[in-house]
Amino acid sequence: MPITAAVEKNAYEAALENFDLAADALNLHMDLRNMMKYPERVLAVVLPVRMDNGRIECFQGYRVQHSTSRGPAKGGIRYHPNVTVDEVKALATWMTWKCAVVNIPFGGGKGGVTCNPKAMSKIELERMTRRYASAILPLIGPERDIPAPDVYTDSQIMSWIMDTYSMTKGYPIPGVVTGKPIALGGSLGRNEATGRGVFYTLESACAHLHIPMKGAKVVVQGFGNAGSIAAQLLDAHGACVIAASDSKACIHNAAGLDIGQVIAHKEKTGSLAGFPGSDAITSAELFALPCEILVPAALENAVQAANAANVKAKIIAEAANGPLTPEADKIVEANGAFIIPDILCNAGGVTVSYFEWVQDEQHLFWEAQDVYNRLERVMKTSFADVLKIHLDHKVGMRTAANMLGISRVAEATRLRGLYP
Ligand code: NAD
Repeated sequence: MPITAAVEKNAYEAALENFDLAADALNLHMDLRNMMKYPERVLAVVLPVRMDNGRIECFQGYRVQHSTSRGPAKGGIRYHPNVTVDEVKALATWMTWKCAVVNIPFGGGKGGVTCNPKAMSKIELERMTRRYASAILPLIGPERDIPAPDVYTDSQIMSWIMDTYSMTKGYPIPGVVTGKPIALGGSLGRNEATGRGVFYTLESACAHLHIPMKGAKVVVQGFGNAGSIAAQLLDAHGACVIAASDSKACIHNAAGLDIGQVIAHKEKTGSLAGFPGSDAITSAELFALPCEILVPAALENAVQAANAANVKAKIIAEAANGPLTPEADKIVEANGAFIIPDILCNAGGVTVSYFEWVQDEQHLFWEAQDVYNRLERVMKTSFADVLKIHLDHKVGMRTAANMLGISRVAEATRLRGLYP
């Protein structure tokens, strides 16, 4: 079933358009604006990999550092057939503003390899990952640029990157990546951090809008790390998840899906398809379901001008990066939806990545509850900061979040060079 709509806008164009909206609202000087807008470094690499059939396949990879004004670049690595340099540039740009919104001392980076990991064996993935780690080695390091998982990459892939990097230095350097297994210096709570952060921002949004979480109908598009954990927490706090989707299927049950069972079914069969007691619906139907909360948790451009008018959710919690195009923003906001923008909503992942990096650097590890408490404080403070700008300046939540992130990066940039 084709679930992805034709792309209305290149994600990087959308990132630049949203930057300009916020920079205008901040009245940012043109010189500073030009200094901050574009990536500092863009590395393209070719990765020859021996496949199981004996042939050598060459994969295209990228690492982009958008900004290091506030600290080392930070951002995930994506393995997906649709990865392009523009997508990685957009994701790196969003990371810069995101780290600034939650006020952690990182800049923004991102990486990606154009590949179909689902069609590769584990050993092929390991070879490709090690080759990619070697290729981007001049850019990464605990003080320079720290990768993490993103779509179709996980803690195993982070372990291979850490190992490859450490091999070249001659000693273990866990701080070069985050999202590692606990046994290699990972943090408790990192695996569920993005979904947990989404949940905390939804608690704040529900309180602000006087929408009770208990009984709220929820639709989740994309049932991977971010989406499934957000669904689990919402379900555990009394919300009713009525529909979910992955790359293969959309499932619906008006009385509510048993999220524990859905997760077990996906683990066992590899997809949501055929979940007992659910109806199969189309992606268009999923986005049009009446609900209090819509959580897009898959890829960019899920909601575009073509389908935005059908969205009936009161709150759109962007677990994914860039799921709404700028045109879709205007339509859903005109219809009264409240957007929790990606650079705020899904910032729990990078926040606990920061905690992991701090623990690695200090060789001192925290308890899970400690991580949750700190994460909740960061997410709820950041939500309140963005909400205040939204209300004071009468701008949309996305522009408010961008204004907060961009103003913090502007301040750091100014202080580093007496810029305007
Ligand atoms: P993941 O690989 O764990 O899961 C992705 C999920 O999306 C899978 O279930 C896949 O089947 C589904 N999917 C793919 N294409 C789809 C489509 N067209 N329609 C419906 N579902 C589709 O990835 P993830 O880490 O959960 O990342 C999801 C989003 O969250 C991405 O935008 C990512 O950048 C963002 N994000 C992730 C993190 C993190 O820590 N993992 C942090 C911040 C933001």
